[in-house]
Order: sequence, then C-alpha cells, then structure tokens
Amino acid sequence: MLFYNYSFFTSLIDTYPWISDNIGFLLSIPLVLFAITALVFTLLSSRWTTKPIVIFVLLISSMTSYFMNTYNVVIDDSMIRNTLQTDMKESMDLFSFKQVTYFMFLGLFPALWVYKTPISYSTFKQSLLRKLNQAMFLLILIVVTIFIFSKHYTSFAREHKPLRYSANPVYWMYSVGNYVNKTFNSAPIVVKPIGLDAKVIKTKEALPKLVIMIVGEAVRADHFSLNGYKKETNPKLKNESVINFSNVYSCGTSTAESVPCMFSIYDKGHYSYKKGIRSENVLDVLKHTNAVSLLWRDNNSDSKGVALRIPYEYYKSPVNNTICTDDECRDEGMLVGLDSYVKAQKNKDILIVLHQMGNHGPAYYKRYPKEYKTFTPICETNQLEKCTKEEISNAYDNAILYTDDFLVKTITLLKQHEKTHQTAMLYMSDHGESLGENGIYLHGLPYFMAPDAQKHIAALGWFSPKLKQTLHIDTLDNTKRYTQDHLFHTLLGLFNVKTEVYNEKLDILHAGH
Ligand SMILES: [Zn+2]
Repeated sequence: MLFYNYSFFTSLIDTYPWISDNIGFLLSIPLVLFAITALVFTLLSSRWTTKPIVIFVLLISSMTSYFMNTYNVVIDDSMIRNTLQTDMKESMDLFSFKQVTYFMFLGLFPALWVYKTPISYSTFKQSLLRKLNQAMFLLILIVVTIFIFSKHYTSFAREHKPLRYSANPVYWMYSVGNYVNKTFNSAPIVVKPIGLDAKVIKTKEALPKLVIMIVGEAVRADHFSLNGYKKETNPKLKNESVINFSNVYSCGTSTAESVPCMFSIYDKGHYSYKKGIRSENVLDVLKHTNAVSLLWRDNNSDSKGVALRIPYEYYKSPVNNTICTDDECRDEGMLVGLDSYVKAQKNKDILIVLHQMGNHGPAYYKRYPKEYKTFTPICETNQLEKCTKEEISNAYDNAILYTDDFLVKTITLLKQHEKTHQTAMLYMSDHGESLGENGIYLHGLPYFMAPDAQKHIAALGWFSPKLKQTLHIDTLDNTKRYTQDHLFHTLLGLFNVKTEVYNEKLDILHAGH
C-alpha cells in the first residue's frame, strides 16, 4: 500500500489539494485502499494459495509501479493485451537499471520475505469462519468510511475516474479480470464472413492496380513538417506530389487496439477486441473478389490478427529481411523482392501491406541507421526520464526522417511499375506518441484521457498521375477531419469494389463526388 502507490497518491494530491475541506477524505483514502486490498487477499487466501498469490502480486506490482511512476502509463486491459502481444525484443528495449532496482526492492526481496515467513493455518472450518469475520469487518470499514466522506467519494468515482487507474495492485488485478473477460470465451471463435458479394468493377482497357498500404508506428501528426512542424522531418516527401492528410485521428492509442480497428468494418464507436476477432476485415473482403492479390509484410510485432487469412511474411528477422544490423531489422528491407512479387501476379490487382517498426519507443535512437542522425543531441537510452525533452524529441524526429526516406523509396518503386499498373501508396500511423508533455511518455492511455499527441496521427497518400485522373483527387479536402474508420471504405473504393459493406460516405477518395 505504502510503497507501490506513489503515482496514485501524487495524482490524488494534485486533484484534491491539501486543504482543510479535503484532509479527512485524503486521510481516509489509504484506509479504504488498504481495506479493499486486504479484502481481496482475504478472499483469495488459503493454505495453498496465500503465499503463491502474494508472491506473484508483489513481483508483478514492482513492475507496474515502475512503469506507472516512470512513464505515467495506466495498466488497463488494453495495456495488458499490448504487453502480452509484445515480443521479447521489444521488451528488452524497455529494460533498464532503474527497472531492475524496482524489481529487486519492491519485488524480489519482499517476495523472499513472504516465502520465508512461517504461517500457521487452522482447520478448514476455523479459517472459513475467521475469513468471514475479517471480510465483514473490512466491508463495513469501507462502506462506513465512504459514507462519512460521501461527497468526496462521489466526485472521486464520477469526475475523477482516471485516479483509481493507478491504485496498485487492485487496479491491475481488476484489469487482468477485465482482459480475460474481454478476450476469452468458452465458445470457439467463429469468424463472421463479410462482403461475400464483393466484386471488382473494371473496364477492359484499365491497367491493373498496385497499391502499397503502409501501417506506420507511433507517428504523431504534429512532428511531420508537412503539417507545419518547425524541424524539417519530411525533406524527401515534400518533393513528391503527396496528398498529406493533416487532421486524421486514430481509433485507439496502442498497436493492439488501432491496427485491427483500422482494417475492421466497425467504426470506433462500435469496435471492440472481441467483435474485431469475430469478424472478417477489409483484406478478407478484397480476397472475396478473387481479383486482388494480397500480401502482408510485418516488421512490427505481428498483424494483430488482421492478416490471418492472407499471405503473411515476418520481416523482423534476418531470415526474410536482408537489411538487418545489430538485432534491428530495417523497414526498407520489406521492399526487397517486391518487384518480382508484382511481376508474378500477372494482370491481377495487388494490395501489399507493410507494417513498419517506425517510431517504436522508447528506444527511438535505435530506429534509424547512423546517417539519419540529423537532429542532435539525442536521447541514447531507453530511460526517457533521464533525457531532456529536446533529446527525446531529436531521437524521435530522426526516426521520422528514416520513415520519410522509406516512404519515398516506396514511391520510387511504384513509379517503376507505372507503365503496367495504376499505382498508389497510402500511409497511416497506428497511433501517436507522448514525448514527455506533462510527464507523459509513450502511448496507450485510455482514449478519453489520452492527450491529442497519442491520437492525432500522421497520414498521407501518393497516387500515380493515371490513377489521380480517375479518382478526381483534385477536389479532395485534405484538411477535413478523418479517422481510421475511413480506411476500410477507402481501400474498397480504391479498388472499385462493389459490395453491400461499402459505404461511399466514409471513402476519403470519393467524398464529395
Ligand atoms: Zn503502435
């Protein structure tokens, strides 16, 4: 209670300042938090469970406490999903000396102490009785305290919801339950097909289409110089005739949330993880046309379930990726060999999705080769709190420079196929990133409390002159507010797919026509 809740108590004092009106309430909070924690452990305790559970909770809480104190993150169910879907290499990026210290002093040593402490257990009947007594006592304590300070507790529960998110360990334990509930279901997962009627409408003389969709990683809109950022982070893209969408918002604040949502038929208001995995997505609809070749290459963690039913290639390993140095595989490695892939598809339309490593934090400095180290000094540790805002931002912006180059290399590749294909590139980041504003780092805060930096994303498109004509792109309003909900319909529209699940109103490229 005392040692794992620094983050909770500091935000509590921020919200309820230490004035006479608040003092009673503030003093009651540790009591209530203690009673709730004790109640949970009382119910879970028994001869066989007490020690394993307490040891497990101590070990995990040392880490949740580290991440909450260091990055101001919240351990909710989507953060748990994110963590479980993160591979070992990404976890090593986060590893630090401070983290080891937390683990030793708040995890390992207390756990050892618990392990060594002798506990005398009474008979089953006795302990059940004692447990009931104890639970009743704690419950009454909680209810009475809340009743006495009911005015404060009402505001605590209704107006300051985010506060309780940093209560350790009860909130992460609750989140685990929430995650299990949202993820697992006794029934096997049945994927509902959608858009089985999908057909590509095509004139005979039209060239086949070649579209490369790039799913970016953690690139916030306001760090693109195309959006007016003071540092030149798009020196190469600015020379291409790209259409920059300056006002695009993400569906979630993490990869695990945003990536499946952006390809899903559901809009942000209706999307949930459970619904997402139980329904086909836009790639499946394109597959149903039998006229589009699909390929997903991944240099991030994986496709988050989006590419389960289409050809998928893992590029975060030197097995496939030919451009890797010191255990970092580069995004541009995903372009290698695409020429021959395109040629092998004969006259079919093609959609290639490239899922970037992009600006994956906190080790931004690892995300680009040396020659992109343009903005200096940079933060060269994964312990962001040790760096200045300027150093963090410089490393982050250098990683954008590398993406700028990657996108232009993709455009160059598309230009080489202009004689035989109508070509296009779409780029959209999955979510944004906090770079230390108000002490918030990285991403993944619950959407309603996340700052704009985590939601306002970089997005742009490039279209070959031939394709541009057929799309009437000149009348497009690229400053209009769009969201990731538009991607599903925009991709269908781009391939001229006729299907009942297509909604022209959400097709960015046909809006207003
Ligand atoms: Zn991401």
